Amino acid sequence: MANRMRNMMDIEIVRGWVDQAARVVVLTGAGISTESGIPDFRGPQGLWTKNPQAEKLSNIHYYMSDPEVRKAAWISRLEHPAWSAKPNAGHLALAALEKRGKLHALITQNIDELHQMAGNSPDKVIEVHGNVRKVVCMACGMTAPMQKALDRVRAGEEDPPCRDCGGILKSATISFGQSLVPEVIGDAMRVARQADVFFAIGTSLQVFPIAGAVELASAAGAKIVILNADPTPFDEIADAVFREPIGATLPQLLRSVPSIL
Ligand SMILES: [Zn+2]
Repeated sequence: MANRMRNMMDIEIVRGWVDQAARVVVLTGAGISTESGIPDFRGPQGLWTKNPQAEKLSNIHYYMSDPEVRKAAWISRLEHPAWSAKPNAGHLALAALEKRGKLHALITQNIDELHQMAGNSPDKVIEVHGNVRKVVCMACGMTAPMQKALDRVRAGEEDPPCRDCGGILKSATISFGQSLVPEVIGDAMRVARQADVFFAIGTSLQVFPIAGAVELASAAGAKIVILNADPTPFDEIADAVFREPIGATLPQLLRSVPSIL
């Protein structure tokens, strides 16, 4: 009971910060999409934890050198949970925050595009790990819709090559062993420094450089709010920490304070 009271007070306080903020910056990780049925890859129930072989499919070195890995990767893309996933209450709360004019930027480690599907404008979303709904040619850089490539796989091409140059196609995501895009990381760090309130949602904050955005925002004076099921290395510098399910908690935190009747 005492915990519940404290939690409700914390929610009111965070709402007040958001109401007063001009620039809210949000960082999201896999935890916001698990409630949409997209599994976390590295968590205790994660795909890679349960099946380490699956990690090979996302490793750029195996992918580029072994046609069998690519064939298996295309089969796994056919079955990717993103194709049937829908935004959940957490995603929708962030879209509503943008409608209120509060959202400065939404940095995401997710590749599922559920933020855009929920209604966030693409120019607010900074996708640090790329996007699974596009393919990129590893030779010429051509990009195309993923579904067109998947149609070719369904039609019998086990490892469809680039139609322009014959190069290897891959989902336009950052695989293991691939570098992040410096301009994208630069954008993420720039907006983090501009935040009045910085939310880290559904991310364990253990992957750098992006976890460093929390430190930058904090050093620049932002209130730090962390929503994650498990402890993170940044809980100690956070101004508020919530462990409750994101889909239930985030809409409460981002709702504007009702006027007193
Ligand atoms: Zn090409």
